Amino acid sequence: MVSAVIGFPRVGKQRELKFASEKYFRGEINKQELEKIAIELRKEHFIYQKEQGITYISSNDFSYYDGILDTAVLLNVVPECYRALKLNELDTYFAMARGYQGAEGDVKALAMKKWFNTNYHYMVPEISDDMKIELVGDKPFVLYQEAKELGLETKPVIIGPFTFLKLAKYQGTKKAKDFAEDMINAYSQLLEGFHKLGVKWVQFDEPILVTDLTGEDIELFEQIYQRLLKRKGNCKILLQTYFGDVRDCYSNIIGIAFDGIGLDFLEGKKNLELVKQNGFPKDKILFAGLLNGKNIWKCNYKNVLEIKKELQEYAEQIVLSTSCSLLHVPYTLDSETKLEQEVKQHFAFAVEKLAEMKELCYLAESSDYTKEQVYLDNQQICESERKYQDKEVQKKTALLEEKDFTRLPKRAERQELQKKVYHLPLFPTTTIGSFPQTQEVKKNRSSYRKGEIDKVAYDKKVFELIHDCIRKQEELGIDVLVHGEYERNDMVEFFGENLAGYIFTEKAWVQSYGTRCVKPPIIFGDVKRIRPITVAYSSYAQSLTDKQVKGMLTGPVTILNWSFPREDISLKEMAYQIGIAIREEVLDLEEAGINIIQIDEAALKEKMPIRKSDWYSGYLDWAIPAFRLCHSGVRPETQIHTHMCYSEFEEIIRDIDNMDADVISFEASRSKLTILDAIKDSEFETEVGPGIYDIHSPRVPSVEELEEVLKKLLTKIDKDKLWVNPDCGLKTRGIAETEASLKNLVEAAKIVREKAEKC
Ligand code: GLN
Ligand code: ZN
Repeated sequence: MVSAVIGFPRVGKQRELKFASEKYFRGEINKQELEKIAIELRKEHFIYQKEQGITYISSNDFSYYDGILDTAVLLNVVPECYRALKLNELDTYFAMARGYQGAEGDVKALAMKKWFNTNYHYMVPEISDDMKIELVGDKPFVLYQEAKELGLETKPVIIGPFTFLKLAKYQGTKKAKDFAEDMINAYSQLLEGFHKLGVKWVQFDEPILVTDLTGEDIELFEQIYQRLLKRKGNCKILLQTYFGDVRDCYSNIIGIAFDGIGLDFLEGKKNLELVKQNGFPKDKILFAGLLNGKNIWKCNYKNVLEIKKELQEYAEQIVLSTSCSLLHVPYTLDSETKLEQEVKQHFAFAVEKLAEMKELCYLAESSDYTKEQVYLDNQQICESERKYQDKEVQKKTALLEEKDFTRLPKRAERQELQKKVYHLPLFPTTTIGSFPQTQEVKKNRSSYRKGEIDKVAYDKKVFELIHDCIRKQEELGIDVLVHGEYERNDMVEFFGENLAGYIFTEKAWVQSYGTRCVKPPIIFGDVKRIRPITVAYSSYAQSLTDKQVKGMLTGPVTILNWSFPREDISLKEMAYQIGIAIREEVLDLEEAGINIIQIDEAALKEKMPIRKSDWYSGYLDWAIPAFRLCHSGVRPETQIHTHMCYSEFEEIIRDIDNMDADVISFEASRSKLTILDAIKDSEFETEVGPGIYDIHSPRVPSVEELEEVLKKLLTKIDKDKLWVNPDCGLKTRGIAETEASLKNLVEAAKIVREKAEKC
């Protein structure tokens, strides 16, 4: 049996690409220096895979920022505003990714969206009616050749034309199908280029096939590929899917002249059944996604080999593949020096997964793998009793009842009371919580981590920063203050450190977007709060001012979704365990005099099942209650806020309202504002703070611009229900741009408030 890897991480084991790109942005290194680092990284990644004997290694899985953005640029999908800057190619690319503000012009970044059910974000291509889609770049060719020169025959991977068209945003009247012809031509040219280079296999990623598709969608998909595949030359084409099953189009897919079909048998619950029911064509290779590309757990060889055996009855040629790109897991356990062996033995990161693939390929050839030592060793670890089990937590979770999830009195009554108690102005201004994580802030943390300073010295600095942050906000005239979140750089890790059952890594970074990486902690055992987490910081901040300071917590669903979860108990059980811990923290904050508490659910939508039919069975049915569990015990006047990092919750607007928060803030500046209609139409009860500017970009919005946004918001939102805030935390921004932006925000709110009060 041979193996295939859908894609490999690219930021580097030590996040080299991130640091190099950031240097490039600051003008500290030039394009050649950045490229040199990229080349070295690609080489290193090829070697890892080659060493483990992976047969089908991907090239072009590398990206400076994002693969969809690469494809957009490759296909000439570059909106006029970026071209008009007249920057060089790389800088135009980065302008699309990050926005641009300089002598050449002032443009916003493209919208960014979550990549299916992961914490990776892609840049949304914008297609306007007059755009001519055509192949204008050569990156996939260059990267293929680069690998070739290293002695490797790779399979270039590129996002497929159908998924690209489906993910793009259309500015004019034309839609996906109107660009099908152009896409077919562009991808044909691409295939022609590959053919000329002697490429053997090309991988088209079409993850959109695992979403709910209409008949029209399937028709478009078929139309594109039936024509495209006629022009494939000598290249073999692998249609790659992941993150789910292809229930809407399995029979269509197998009817098209692909040479290989990649299916995910882990997240794609129905794929096995589909293969069994419909068979699998003899002339195609099944790239069986059996090695989990998303989790960090050691693979249970038994499960993989059993599914493989079942598949063998239907498919003649099977390649063992990862279930998705390894982009979503950290690099290697080798970088972890502090984990105890008892814990570490349960994990496998990207590099270790490659070794697992090698062992699995070996076992697959064995006449009786159950007798092989590698198999026995694997089973021994996978079946051993785990550390950190807590009977008491298990019992508490099992005993939760309806009243634990219900806050009283009803929201309207609470909101009225809160208005009376806090005397907030119309359109209260606030921020989402974090303030810039400056060098000073980072230095304090790293000195503490390295043991150069003790906890007392560390906290002293944090308190100083909080002090200055409160003064700054007062100076800016913000209404509801925050303490700045200097004690954390990550909204999950910080909480996890105060929860039993959590395990931390040193270098297990995963790319979230562009140069931003996250290091999700691992839920290893039963979770419970060990000690108060934020109380000291929040109460200190509150002691400095007469204004209200928001307590700042991360909600259970987000903590869960941004952790690597266990696989031996349900997500619901984990969410409730964390919910109980956060509830204890909420009550302690309230007790300490914090009247407004924000519980962030930035990642609530992240793990929404990709298909609608699965939303309420096994996700929202516990996710929304888990949030309510956190705050159902507070007093009526305690104001509960929540925050989400996206605005596309139109479809679950009822559920969002059912979280029963008093106020919600959300990202609304990068995407379309259709959410506002949904808020209006659904008679949304929660007060709302749609972010009025984009914090993912260093750009400073002007007062006029913000005023316009607010005016627009007021056409849809009741004036007593509108809050004014940026669209997310400010931690990734610099001080100067943050203060300038907030000053304009407060000013815009003031102008609009004065006008509203007059009429
Ligand atoms: N309170 C967090 C912050 O301000 C929220 C971050 C987020 O939504 N991702 O940083
Ligand atoms: Zn956010």
